[in-house]
Amino acid sequence: MLSDIEIAQAATLLPIKEVAAQIGIKEDELEFYGKYKAKLSDELANRLENEPDGKLVLVTAINPTPAGEGKTTTSAGLGQAMAKIGKKAVIALREPSLGPVFGIKGGAAGGGYSQVLPMEDINLHFTGDMHAITSANNLCCAMLDNHIQQGNVLGIDPRQILIKRCLDMNDRALRNIVVGLGGRVNGIPREDHFIITVASEVMAILCLADDISDLKKRLGNILIAYTYAGEPVFAKDIKADGAMTALLKDAIKPNLVQTLEGTPAIMHGGPFANIAHGCNSIRATKLALKLADYCITEAGFGSDLGAEKFFDIKCRYAGFKPSAVVIVATCRALKYNGGVPKAEVSAENLEALKNGIENLGVHIDNMRKYNVPVVVAINQFGTDTAEELEFIESYCKSKGADFALSNVFSKGGEGGTELAKKVVEACEKPSDFAPIYSDDLTIKEKVDKIAKTIYGASRVNYTKAAEKALKQIQALGGEKLPVCIAKTQYSLSDDPTLLGAPKDFEITVKNLTLSNGAGFVVVYTGDIMTMPGLPKIPSAEKIDVTEEGKINGLF
Ligand code: ADP
Ligand code: MG
Repeated sequence: MLSDIEIAQAATLLPIKEVAAQIGIKEDELEFYGKYKAKLSDELANRLENEPDGKLVLVTAINPTPAGEGKTTTSAGLGQAMAKIGKKAVIALREPSLGPVFGIKGGAAGGGYSQVLPMEDINLHFTGDMHAITSANNLCCAMLDNHIQQGNVLGIDPRQILIKRCLDMNDRALRNIVVGLGGRVNGIPREDHFIITVASEVMAILCLADDISDLKKRLGNILIAYTYAGEPVFAKDIKADGAMTALLKDAIKPNLVQTLEGTPAIMHGGPFANIAHGCNSIRATKLALKLADYCITEAGFGSDLGAEKFFDIKCRYAGFKPSAVVIVATCRALKYNGGVPKAEVSAENLEALKNGIENLGVHIDNMRKYNVPVVVAINQFGTDTAEELEFIESYCKSKGADFALSNVFSKGGEGGTELAKKVVEACEKPSDFAPIYSDDLTIKEKVDKIAKTIYGASRVNYTKAAEKALKQIQALGGEKLPVCIAKTQYSLSDDPTLLGAPKDFEITVKNLTLSNGAGFVVVYTGDIMTMPGLPKIPSAEKIDVTEEGKINGLF
C-alpha cells in the first residue's frame, strides 16, 4: 500500500467551491485561501442560524498506544462512508500542530484512504490559525513585560506571572528560560516559560467562543499574573484584549477542506486534550450541524479524557446533544492494554488481547453513562488476525454493543459502509444526553464524580499545594466552573503503567489552575508536558522537498 502522502498527492481535489456547493454554501460565503481551502464567513453562520441541527456523532477511543489508534482516520472514513450510503455528512476535526508533525506521531489529517486534503498544507501552515493564536498569546506576554518595564503601575509581581509564551513547535530548550537579561533597557529579568501553542489558553478560548465579542470577553478574562498584594491581574487589566482579538479576527472563522473522496471537512482549532478540552471549535461543530444531516467529530486521546471533556465541557457550553458515540478500538491497543510492549503489538497474541479487552468494556460502559448510543469501530490493521478480530467482535456481542469492522484506512469510504449503517441506526435510537455532573457541585465533588464514575478510582487525594491552589480558585469565583482533568492518556488511572481496566486505585490531585477565560478549572493529576521535546530521531529528519516543490516524508 502507498504511504499516506503518496495517496494524498495522487488524489484529484475538487475546487473548494464545489465541495461547499454540495452542502449549499454559496461562493460569496467563502473566503478563499488558494483553490482548495476556504474560511467560512460570518454571513454563512448568520444565514444558517435558525436551520435545524443534524445528528452529532462523536468519535472517541479506548486508551491508546503512543502512535494513536485511528480516531481521525475513522472520522474521515466514516464521513466518506456516509456519502457512500447516501447520507449527507460533514466532518468536524481539529487542526494539526507542528509539534507532532515533526516529532513522533506525525500529522493529524487521517491516514491511508481516509484523509483530509490538502494534507501537506493542513499539516504545515494551513490558513495561519496557529500563527494567529501564537501571536495573540505572545502579544499579551510582551505587553505584560512591557507594563512591568514601564513603571509597573499595577504592581505585578514578576515571580507570580502565570501566562507563558508559546510556539507551535516541540522545543524543550524553551521550557524554562530567563528573559529580560542585558541591563536597564532590556527589561526586568525574570524566569519565563514557553508552552506549545495548542496548550495555550488562547487556543482553548478560540475553540469555546461563540462569536467575536465572546472571544474578546474571554481573552480579557485570562488570569495572567498576581500583584505584590496578591490581587489577580487579567489580560484586560493591561488592555491586551482588544488587540489580541484583532489578531484572531480571521482565525475564529472555521476552515473548509475535503476528504480524499470529496466529503466536506471543517477543520478548526486544536487544543490539548489534557490541560484543555481537546476538541475542535464550537463554531465549527455548530456550522457542521447546520450544514449536514450528520456531523462527525473527534475528541482527543481515549474516552476517559477526550469524550468526557467533549460532553462535560464542550456540549455543556454549546448546548449540544450528541446522538451517537463511536469508540475506536484496535487489536494493537487492546494487546498493549493487555501488557504487550509497544514494539510487539503487531504480533498475534490472543492471551494479551483477552487481558486487555476489559479496557474496551470500561469505555463502552462509560459512554453509556451519558445516555448516548454506542458503536464500536474495530479499526483493522494489516497485521490483525481473523482470530483476534473475532474475539473482539464476540466481546462486543457479550456487552450488547453495536460494532463494525472498519477498513476505511485500506479501502476508504467503501471500507466503512457497515460502520456508517450502524451509526445511522444508533442515531435513531432513543438518547437522552446529559453531562455527568451539574454546574452547582463544588470542584471537589466534580472531580470525585469523574474519578469514580469514569476512571473507576476508589478515592481522590489532594496534596497540600493542590488544597492551597483550590482555595485561591474558590476566592476568584471558580467553584462553579466545569473541571478539565489533566491526566495520562495511557491509563484510566493517573499512573501510565496501570493498563487495561485497573481497580482499587487512588487518584492524586497535585495542582489546580484557573483557565478563567476559557471557563474551566484545570485539575492536574500528574506532571503534564505542555512543551513537548523532539525524540532522538524526529520525523523532521525525513521530511524534504523536491526541486519541483513537492513535499515528501510527511505522514
Ligand atoms: P488518532 O486520531 O486516534 O490519534 P490517527 O487517525 O491520526 O489516530 O491515526 C494514527 C496513525 O495510525 C496515522 O499515522 C494513521 O495513518 C495510522 N493508522 C490509522 N488506522 C490505521 C490502519 N487501520 N492501518 C494502518 N495504519 C493506520
Ligand atoms: Mg486524531
